[in-house]
Amino acid sequence: MDDDVRHAVAARLAVVRRRVTDAALAAGRDPAEVQLLLASKTMSLDAVAAALAADEGREAGLARVVLGENRVQELVAKAPELAHLEPTWHVIGPLQSNKVNAALRWASCVESVASVDLAERLAARAAGLDVMVQVNVSDEPTKHGVTPDEALELALAVAALDGLRLVGLMTVGANSTDESVVRAGYARLRALRDEVAASVPTATGLSMGMSRDLEPAIAEGATIVRIGSAVFGAR
Ligand SMILES: *Cc1c(COP(=O)(O)O)cnc(C)c1O
Repeated sequence: MDDDVRHAVAARLAVVRRRVTDAALAAGRDPAEVQLLLASKTMSLDAVAAALAADEGREAGLARVVLGENRVQELVAKAPELAHLEPTWHVIGPLQSNKVNAALRWASCVESVASVDLAERLAARAAGLDVMVQVNVSDEPTKHGVTPDEALELALAVAALDGLRLVGLMTVGANSTDESVVRAGYARLRALRDEVAASVPTATGLSMGMSRDLEPAIAEGATIVRIGSAVFGAR
């Protein structure tokens, strides 16, 4: 493995772990409540393996990183090559129905469920798969996910399917440099999660926050932050 890649990834991962811990402590939260997911899209196997190796040096009490892929094609290309390192994979992008079988071969959680149709297809093939409902809190039309108004209904429908375990809600935050706008979106997801969790006790998770905005996400209760460029460098 390339030493420069290994050292750069390890150094950036340490910075991100520090940011997550500092943000949790600033919010009066236990850093162990925040799972770090590494978004590995377009990244080399070497870079991802380097991150997994460096993560072995994480602080005691923190959970191991999980990996997230947007596209099933990339998941099925990377996962067999990294299988000896036994990572946990989440799907974090739109999932076509003809890719469900391939995704389920590797993923233990699909965070990007945005239709009953997809949920039913997953349920038909899975036993005990974790899923999250993806909500578009920023109303940006290019973003995947149901509207906030649709979220509760979809979440309840998903939770009712045998074979799936609804573990929370996911969003991609507003593409804005105004932190108050970003944070308001995360607060909205949290309020929706509270509504869902009132009926679905397993649905406590909140996957929100990326490289540039993990702090406001953690302040609003993120239980998973999805980090790409801050660990792997620019895509
Ligand atoms: C790429 C990606 C991320 C990580 O984004 P960075 O800005 O590189 O940290 C998080 N979530 C999703 C859904 C992504 O596609």
